[in-house]
Amino acid sequence: MTTTQPGDHNIATALARVRERIDAAARAADRDPAHVTLVAVSKTKPAARVAEALDTGQRDFGENYLQDALAKIETLAARDPLWHFIGDIQSNKTRDIASGFAWAHAVDRFKIARRLSDQRPDGMAPLNVCIQVNIDGEASKSGLAPDDVPELAEQIAALEHVRLRGLMAIPAPADDFETQRRPFAALRALMDQLNADGHTLDTLSMGMSADLEAAIAEGATHVRVGTAIFGARDT
Ligand SMILES: *Cc1c(COP(=O)(O)O)cnc(C)c1O
Repeated sequence: MTTTQPGDHNIATALARVRERIDAAARAADRDPAHVTLVAVSKTKPAARVAEALDTGQRDFGENYLQDALAKIETLAARDPLWHFIGDIQSNKTRDIASGFAWAHAVDRFKIARRLSDQRPDGMAPLNVCIQVNIDGEASKSGLAPDDVPELAEQIAALEHVRLRGLMAIPAPADDFETQRRPFAALRALMDQLNADGHTLDTLSMGMSADLEAAIAEGATHVRVGTAIFGARDT
């Protein structure tokens, strides 16, 4: 054992706390906690930290920076984690995302979805895809305007090697629970509308360290949590 250094962060303890938060939020919403997948966002963190999380039984991990992620994917391949690409996707990144990841959460253009489908290697299950929605209309943010989602959903649903699973959003930070809930409720309503139109979406990727309770109250199936698990990020 090495000596604990100041600033060391116990990942097992932090993960247990986050899982308790998820359980409590699910119970408060009369939901089964098993229906909320914790995606541990390990961006900027070394493979050794991800391995510590794997040791506790954590299986789903989220990454934004492709080069950084690919190194971890290779290092940890034998541990069989499930990788989620949660960042914006440029065209020159689609091949590595299609081959290295199980999920892409932030698709907002058909061109990207089509490349992911075309480049998904033979023999792999379809890549799970969410459409990122700019649910609270922040001008600065990526994601598709809600009105444009139905058309993209229809286009993606027709692709062979990706599977449209649902919607993802990153609302503006807010301090109080009711303000946090509002954009999550809007995302859920949009998914309900798509399903009423014939889609069979089952995924709401919403909620992070600061607002996962509000997201779970509104039906989140995937919460993407970084800081609360791994500590502050190395910039
Ligand atoms: C970094 C990031 C997260 C995690 O955010 P925390 O506040 O550290 O929990 C979740 N989703 C996306 C898309 C991110 O980029």
